[in-house]
This record gives sequence, C-alpha cells and structure tokens, in this order.
Amino acid sequence: MEILFMGTGASEGWPGLFCTCRHCRRAAQAGGKNIRTRTSFLVDRSLLIDPGLDVYLHMLRYDLRLAELDGIIVTHAHADHLSAEQFTYTMPPFAHRDLSKPMPVFGNGEVLDKIRHVIGSDDDEEIRASAGLDLNLAEPGKPFRIAAYTITPLMAAHIPEAQCLFYLIETAGKTYLQANDTGYFPDETWKRLENRPIDLVSLDCTNGELDDRTHHMGASAVIDVVERLRKQGQLAPTAKAVATHFSHNGGLLHHELEAALNPHGIEVAHDGLRVAI
Ligand SMILES: [Zn+2]
Ligand SMILES: [Zn+2]
Ligand SMILES: [Zn+2]
Repeated sequence: MEILFMGTGASEGWPGLFCTCRHCRRAAQAGGKNIRTRTSFLVDRSLLIDPGLDVYLHMLRYDLRLAELDGIIVTHAHADHLSAEQFTYTMPPFAHRDLSKPMPVFGNGEVLDKIRHVIGSDDDEEIRASAGLDLNLAEPGKPFRIAAYTITPLMAAHIPEAQCLFYLIETAGKTYLQANDTGYFPDETWKRLENRPIDLVSLDCTNGELDDRTHHMGASAVIDVVERLRKQGQLAPTAKAVATHFSHNGGLLHHELEAALNPHGIEVAHDGLRVAI
C-alpha cells in the first residue's frame, strides 16, 4: 500500500487565507515543506480520503483521476475534509463519464446529507443514476469493502455536537490507520484497535507545541498515542508513524516539528509525501 499525503494543513491552510500572524509569515518566507494545503490522502491511486477544499488543486498537482478511483471515504463534514459543492461536477454537462458504474462514497449521515443536498435529491437511487454516486453510511466498528480494501470506521474525538470518524484500512496483509481529525482517541476506539497490528499510523497534529487533546492533538498527544500503540505491541519496530494536519496556531514550522517528533520515531508529513508499507 502506498499513501500519498496530498495536503497536510489544517482548515485554513498554512499560510492561512486571511491570516497575518507571525507563523504564517514565517511559513510563507521559508516556503517548501512549510506550505500546506488542506488535508487529504490518496491510497494506491485507488481510494481518496477527504475531498476537501483543495481537491481541484490536488487533481492538478498529483495527476489525481477522480473518475478512475475505486471509492471515496470522508471523515467528517468540515469543509476542509468535504467540499460538498464539488460533487456538482460528477454529472453532465460538467462531467462525461460512465455513470453505470457509480462511485462508492462512504461517510457519516451528515456527510451524505450534504452531498444529497448538493445533488438536489434525497433519493439515493436517483443519485446513483444521475450523478453516478453510490452513497453509503459509514458507522463506527462496522467494516465495509471497497475493491480489495477492508475499511473499518472508528469514532474520533473531534467536535461533541457531530460524529467524526477516521479509518483503519487493510489490504494484502498491511494495515494503515488514518487518524484525523481527532483528539486523543476515545476509549471505544482504543478498544476496537486492541490486538490490531498496524503498519502505518498517521495522526492529527493540528496544534504543534500546544498540549491539545480534546478536539485535535499537539505533538505531545501524538507522542502519547504512538507510545501507547507501541506499548500495546501494535506497532512493530518497522512500522511507521507520521504526523499531519498542521495549523499555524501550533506555531512550529516543518523543521521545528521534526525536532519535536523525530526523536520519538515520528515522521512529519509535508504536501507530496509518499509512504509505502
Ligand atoms: Zn480538519
Ligand atoms: Zn497565521
Ligand atoms: Zn474537522
């Protein structure tokens, strides 16, 4: 399995759209790995995780072929993870593609409702026929299949008023845990992960040097999650841990994040990073 980190920034991107803060200025000046588009992942050029606000930029930058994907999975309905309006362009006259093979899309109820609203129908059969989308409800702990992948949704700790999920993705004996947006995992998620060996974990590190654990994580919480997975025997010595989804509010540029995380065996993602397991 190869995971391409297409975007590694938090909601506003980094530099932030309207921000004048010191860390946005520092990032703009330093450039390179400090320029972060909104968080999104591509697995084996087959699964897209989170078609967010930068999906069009990612299509251009990474030769992302949306119509050829095996499926799309969405973590939650925040705009940086689901730019629902983009689903307008799945159908004629905006797109000419084979609608007889509807694209599987999985997400929670709020995600699916937003897409239905954009398509202008509550009728999933009509959406399959007119927009070529096969909308499916993802529920915590209930695995589903897309192509050769078994995908288990897990409960995140993100915003109390809405359900947010992240995903355990398995294929050909390899397992990738994609964990954002989330704070320190809820107990029910730790329980579901028990005894599951993981080859790659990517973790929400929105808040850099801040010790946030409730809606997002900072470096210290990311280190705690990785150490707990190691202590529980779920991360082999060859397994990889990567931090992502960074905000200017965390205050750490790429090399500063590396200084905080690399000594703990945690890699820092940047836009365009590819990790093979
Ligand atoms: Zn986010
Ligand atoms: Zn800023
Ligand atoms: Zn979010």
